[in-house]
Parts: sequence; structure tokens; C-alpha cells
Amino acid sequence: MSNSPLVQYIKISPNSTNPRRKKIKKITIHHMAGPLSVETCGEIFAKPERRASSNYAVGVDGRIAMYVEEKNRAWTSSNAANDNEAVTIEVANSAVGGDWPVSDKVLARTIDLCVDICKRNGIDKLVYTGDKSGNLTRHDMFANTVCPGPYLGSKFPYIAAEVNKRLGVQTQTPFLVKVTADALNIRSGPGVANSITGTIKDKGTYTIVDTKDDWGKLKSGIGWIHLGYTKRLDPSPPAPAPAPAPAPAPAPYLVKVTANKLNIRSGPGTNYKIQGAITDKGTYTIVDTQGRWGKLKSGAGWICLNYTKKI
Ligand SMILES: [Zn+2]
Repeated sequence: MSNSPLVQYIKISPNSTNPRRKKIKKITIHHMAGPLSVETCGEIFAKPERRASSNYAVGVDGRIAMYVEEKNRAWTSSNAANDNEAVTIEVANSAVGGDWPVSDKVLARTIDLCVDICKRNGIDKLVYTGDKSGNLTRHDMFANTVCPGPYLGSKFPYIAAEVNKRLGVQTQTPFLVKVTADALNIRSGPGVANSITGTIKDKGTYTIVDTKDDWGKLKSGIGWIHLGYTKRLDPSPPAPAPAPAPAPAPAPYLVKVTANKLNIRSGPGTNYKIQGAITDKGTYTIVDTQGRWGKLKSGAGWICLNYTKKI
């Protein structure tokens, strides 16, 4: 079990159970209840009588600290079962009280740290369910506490989404299926080894929000069904709309040059380079127009129509 290479400050706390008893499967994010530096937080966790610690912290300036190595269980979430499976992170607030805000920078560093923890520990997806069944958990799921505070707490779905984006998790667009079997078992997970949690007998239409192999997860949250006994209803994604036809070029028209000398430029504007001049006050065919500029049919370039008369 490794530790994060993002760590910039280390002060190992005596408050831990060594080693942790379970494989790391979760992340639990806490707030510090104050704009603490990693040093101050480390001082607090260094006191044995505090009987508290975390694996990591993101300090108020965005620096990342380690207080308990990942191989050990930190005392963070008031729950041994959780902390034996979780890497815990204390996150500094940007102010005291209110909705306990956290700066964007600290939030971004927290996400960086979560991505790193997931990658090194083989966590392929961070799932925030709002309860302890997910693998992104929070202190107030286990104890009567305001931690992680309203602001940081509201960011948990965002944190999971950002982490998953960076882990390359594909997000499934929900789709509809019609059940074709008379009785289709609903299971607690994607596979026949999972327990049966119900049966669909109405040959009805259901929304699938996630897939794994041949299994689809029901939107209701009741479980997974085998998609081999369903028919997908909604059409495959519409073909991309054809590119809009280019605006028809204006009909060519004739102009008579009125200036003694009229520059021909490589494009419709004086910022384009001069590549010739008309000195014969002749009549020319314009095949395209942009603003006050006309494109010569010969392909020689563009002229300013201010010095011409349409005929
Ligand atoms: Zn907490």
C-alpha cells in the first residue's frame, strides 16, 4: 500500500490503528471546521489525547499533508468499519461558520487527491449515493455532526463526477427497454451471483441508467436486470444533422472601376496584401461580395467596391 505522491507535508499522528484491517475501497471527506493550515491540523492530530486523525488533509493554502499512512486506519469518521476501508481527508474551510465554505483551490486539490487515491488503490469509480452504501462517504453518515458542512457536503456529487471523469469512467445515457420475458428477476447487482430483489412480470417498459456487460441497472434503484430478456426501445442516437448548405454565392455582377488605380488584394480588406492593381477603369465581373469588397471573377483577388460603379 503506497502513499500519495501529492503530499507536501508529513506529521505522523499517534492516533491510528496499525495496520488497517480492510482493503481500501472508500474515501471519506471531512471539513476541518476552520481555515487551518496543514501544520495546525497536524499539531492537533499529534496530541494523543485528541484521539483523532486523518490520513490526509488539504490545508487552507491548498497544500496536501499526510498524518496517517494509507496502510493504517485513521481515526476520523467515528466509525471503525468505515475508516478501515476508507482513506480519510480533512479539508480546510475558507471561513468559519455560515455554510462552512471551502475555496475553489482547496476543492480542486481535494479532487486531485481523490483521483490519486482511486488510481493507486484500484478504485475504478467513486460513487456518491447520499448514504453509506456508496464509496464516497461523509462523517455525518456515521455520527451526529455538521461535518462536512453544507457547502462541502453539496459538492460531493460534483467531486464524484470530476474524479470519475478523470478516471475515464464512461457515463451511460439512460435508455428505455421493454421486458420480453414473462418473469424477469431483478438482482442486487449485475450478475446471477447477486441476490434476487424482485421480479418484473408486467412486460413493461423500464429505464436503464447504467450497464455492465449484459446487465442494466433500473432507474428505480431496485436493482439490475439481464438485458437479454428485454428489447431496447429508443432508437439509436440520431445521425448528426447534415452540415448546412453553404450560402449560395451571389449572382455575379458587373462593376466599372471609377478610380485611376485600384488595388487588388488577396482578401476582402486592406489588411490583405496587394497583389495587383487595376489601372484601366475597365469593367469587371464580381463573383462574391463581403462587406464593401468584391471578388474578381478572374481569381486575381478582391477590390474595394467603393471605387467602382455597379452596371
Ligand atoms: Zn469530520
